[in-house]
Amino acid sequence: MRPLDEKDRELVDLAREVAKRFSSFRWNGEKLSAVGSALRTKDGDIFSGPNIDHPESAPCSMCAEYTALGKAYSEGHTEVETIVACWHKNGDDGVIPPCGRCKEFMRLFGNPWVIIETDEGPRKARLDEIHPYAPK
Ligand SMILES: [Zn+2]
Repeated sequence: MRPLDEKDRELVDLAREVAKRFSSFRWNGEKLSAVGSALRTKDGDIFSGPNIDHPESAPCSMCAEYTALGKAYSEGHTEVETIVACWHKNGDDGVIPPCGRCKEFMRLFGNPWVIIETDEGPRKARLDEIHPYAPK
């Protein structure tokens, strides 16, 4: 685990902003879960996006990391330097770790730094440190 630098904290702030922005979304009057993700590519470009929650079919939902990675991919980026996701609920927020499906998907984008919450606060680890099938 490594401490965050200023560029990492910018990504955390952006992911937090995205989650907060989408926390007011409703579907049929039902409040949806709100997660935002932000990433920096190897080229230094930044992409972000929210999760897309399907309240009646969790497997049909899409994690925020997929949105951010899809946006980067659609603009020609295949190497991610750092990625993070944050949740927001009732005015509170925090860093949330990627699920197993997201970690597997991230393998397509190299071996990025992934910002996760620890007992000492947010830290970053390489994907291959937190995902057993990531490339070494
Ligand atoms: Zn996920």
